[in-house]
Amino acid sequence: MASTKLKKIMTDDKNHLFQNYGNRQKVCFVRGRNSYLYDQDNRKYVDFFSGIAVSSLGYGTKAYAKALHRQVDSIIHSSNHYFNREQNEAGRLLNEVSFPGKTLFVNSGTEATEAAIKLARRYGMSHGKDRYRIITFDNSFHGRTYGGMTATAQKKIHDGFGPLVPGFTYLPGNDIKIFEKEIRKNRDVCAVMIELIQGEGGIQVADKRFVKDLFRLCNKNGILTIVDEVQTGVGRTGTMFAYQHFGVVPDIITMAKGLAGGVPIGAIHAKNFLPEFLPRGTHGTTFGGNHLACAAAAAVLKQVRAKAFLANVNAVGGYFFDALNGLSKKVGFIKEVRGLGLHIGIELTKPGADLVPKALEKGLVINCTADKVIRIMPPLNITLKTAREGMKILERLFLEEGGAQ
Ligand code: PLP
Repeated sequence: MASTKLKKIMTDDKNHLFQNYGNRQKVCFVRGRNSYLYDQDNRKYVDFFSGIAVSSLGYGTKAYAKALHRQVDSIIHSSNHYFNREQNEAGRLLNEVSFPGKTLFVNSGTEATEAAIKLARRYGMSHGKDRYRIITFDNSFHGRTYGGMTATAQKKIHDGFGPLVPGFTYLPGNDIKIFEKEIRKNRDVCAVMIELIQGEGGIQVADKRFVKDLFRLCNKNGILTIVDEVQTGVGRTGTMFAYQHFGVVPDIITMAKGLAGGVPIGAIHAKNFLPEFLPRGTHGTTFGGNHLACAAAAAVLKQVRAKAFLANVNAVGGYFFDALNGLSKKVGFIKEVRGLGLHIGIELTKPGADLVPKALEKGLVINCTADKVIRIMPPLNITLKTAREGMKILERLFLEEGGAQ
């Protein structure tokens, strides 16, 4: 039963806001501490979702909060008409933790996709007339603006919004023969865009052999490789970026979500030969990479790049995989547990959406995506103790749902 406070919040939502987020869970978080959230009635929850893999340092972490306070007290925004030390610093750090290249800051994941598309097309056009086509893969998710939505190979995301942006082709993932045939037939391809672990698509990890072959063919044929690291980037999978698990180096990575720990930001990082294809005046944003967002990103990157930090992601991730595989032996409806680091999907044999409010009732925040996949993406600095506490709740819920086999 919703409390009086919650009822008022829900009524205000209906009265004042678009109802495009039809499935809001019946809770309003008002504060957090480490990997715990507190609702309007001061009830405590273990957070296994971190606001869709965004609150990478959890809530109220000292060094991060201090960096933000300092920045708010000095300057939040000045615009890209001027030089910006915080942007320089965040760009320097990104260079250090990925590959030699340069960074362009934007405001969100979908805008990172847009920037990557624009860059790829400018590059393509300079390497042969009409090389504009971009290949993406079935079930991908790259955003909700027109470029991002078109790059997203999911019909349900497109429905009712046509005509979409021309020049995109969708291929099945993990099939190098189909890819090879496509680029032989059509010489107009300038780039591929791929999530190495599809997030919204249900934590689907790409096949390593396929990824290596894909990159080899792209490099050979002058096709840019764009890896969408919006969900997987900045430590989520136990390395700084997911591509580092696959033995490849992309030409462009896109990122957003966890990069600034909750302050809106997006970015592309591209190899040094690419920035010249977006010269002065070809792309830009008012807010992109403002002082506050970049101070937040620098504070996050400084923590995440530490060995001990990523070791925690891998250790707690390992704990989750063991515990969940153990649990799958006790309940009958877990089909598969997959993912890397703290980017984990539990595929069920039945729809999982109704488990989300049931978990909330017990004090645990989880998410369901792709209909049957429960996603576990806690803050990256979650302790083993808190992970265990949340797992206990999840186990109780799953046992109630499925019973012992
Ligand atoms: N790319 C991927 C892989 C994502 O998971 C998302 C969002 O979920 C996006 C792009 C779009 O990011 P945003 O919602 O910040 O626009």
